[in-house]
Formats: sequence, C-alpha cells, structure tokens
Amino acid sequence: RTQFTLSVQIFPYGDQQKLLLSQDITQLERTEAMRRDFVANVSHEIKTPLTVLGGFVETLRDVPMDEAHRLRVLDMMLTQSDRMRHLVDDLLVLARLEGDPYPPPEDVIDMKSMMAQYQNEAQALSNGRHQIRLEVSTDSRVRGSPQELHSALSNLVSNAVRYTPDGGSITLAWDAVFVDGQPSYAEFSVTDTGIGIAAEHIPRLTERFYRVDRGRSRASGGTGLGLAIAKHVLLRHQAELLVHSTPGKGSRFVVRFPAARVVPSDAAHAASVV
Ligand code: ADP
Repeated sequence: RTQFTLSVQIFPYGDQQKLLLSQDITQLERTEAMRRDFVANVSHEIKTPLTVLGGFVETLRDVPMDEAHRLRVLDMMLTQSDRMRHLVDDLLVLARLEGDPYPPPEDVIDMKSMMAQYQNEAQALSNGRHQIRLEVSTDSRVRGSPQELHSALSNLVSNAVRYTPDGGSITLAWDAVFVDGQPSYAEFSVTDTGIGIAAEHIPRLTERFYRVDRGRSRASGGTGLGLAIAKHVLLRHQAELLVHSTPGKGSRFVVRFPAARVVPSDAAHAASVV
C-alpha cells in the first residue's frame, strides 16, 4: 500500500490555496498513473516468458518425444528463463539507481582500455555477422562509476549489434575536444548502419519499456529497460545522450561527458604519481 503525504501551503487568499492543492493532486495522480503503468508492464513482461515456460513443461509431460526433441525443448526453456533473469536484473539495477541518494564514485576510468573491451563484447555478440570498427583518438579518461558507466555504454554497443542486420558495420569511437589545451568535453559514440529510428520515437526511447518494435526487441533478447538505465546513469554523471538516426540507414548514439568529468592523460598520470 502506498501512502502519500500532501503538503498544502496556506495562503491568505482562498483561490491561491485551492490552486496549490489541485496542482499537488494532479502531480500525485500522474505519479500514481505512472506507477500503475509500470506495475502493469512488469507483470506483462514476466507473464509472457512464464506462460511460454508453462507450455513447454506441459509438452514435456504430455507429449512422447525422442531425445533430440527433448533437448530442443529444454534449450527453449532455458532461453525463456534467461530472459526472465535478465529482466529481473535490469529492474533491480533501475530500482537501485532511482533510490540512490549519493552521487556516483569518482574513480578515474581508462576509456582507451574500456573501448577495446567494448569492441570484444560487440564481436562476441555479433559472432562475425558485422564489421566492428574502433576509432580512439584520445587517451583522456573519465571520472565516475566504472560499473554504472559500463552498463550504460555497453547497452548502446549491444543495441547497435542487435538492431543492425547481418553484413552491417558498427563503429565505436572515443574522442575529446580541447580548447586552449583544456578539455572542453569528451564523447563516446556508437554508429551503426542498422534499421534506424523514426524521429517521433527518439524523445521516448529512454522511457521504461518503450520499444519501437516490441517483437524485434524481444526476439533479440531485449528487456526494454536498457536505455532507461543508461539515462539514469548518464544523468548522475552529468553526461548528455544525443541520438541521431535515419530509418533504414542507421543510428548514432553519442554520450558527451562534460569537462569536469574528463581527465586528460597527463593529469591522470600526475595524479597517480603524487
Ligand atoms: P531494448 O531492450 O528493447 O533494446 P532499450 O531501452 O535498450 O530496450 O531500447 C529501446 C528501444 O530503442 C529498442 O526497443 C529499439 O526500438 C530502439 N533502439 C535502441 N537502440 C537502437 C539502435 N541502435 N537502432 C535502432 N533502434 C534502436
């Protein structure tokens, strides 16, 4: 049961008092509607694989089959249980991020080596179906939480692979812009030659469970929470997420870190020597 506390400021003028109260209630109703939507979405997302799993269990119980067939059914069951686990993992990450009152840690992250790791991850996921390129033009580092940033950035990388048909290419880049020798900002980007996203969907991509094509997202193992998680992580790091896309041609997701989070390589070296 959720309990709301209403705070009403009392003004000497009757009308103003009414106005404040109704604004509070509108906000509460909106929050409550969002909560209901979220619970409905989560229930639906969990129910689907559970129903499929139940169907497979019945098949195994009721239908005589040879060993090869039985193994195929067990594999499909494993896929569904993996999907549920992935969904619960993402929900826990999101809940932790939303409830975290503290700023992220200020570890210095070596992006150059992270980029090589992202390339490996993309290659593993692509399994030779795409060309994966790496363009690293700076050894600047960033300050932040290695775990959180890894979950946000690797999600952009896996999306690029998942939403790019076989034979396409994916470019991972790390670049910094300096003005008068001082970092102005640094950018991580993933550019793909995939299916692209129509302009009207772009502002909604970071909403929880928002997907352009539900079937496609599910089929490729998506939970619909990846970009919602990325948004929270990037917000906590004062980083911006910029999306450029042309349907049928491809997309480019850019994460721009502000100067305050960028550590030029020399400074990082000096800090570790001191
Ligand atoms: P999902 O698990 O569905 O991929 P995300 O939150 O990561 O969830 O992404 C939300 C939606 O944004 C996806 O369902 C997909 O429609 C769209 N999307 C994300 N990345 C790309 C991309 N690189 N190319 C095309 N569409 C994308």
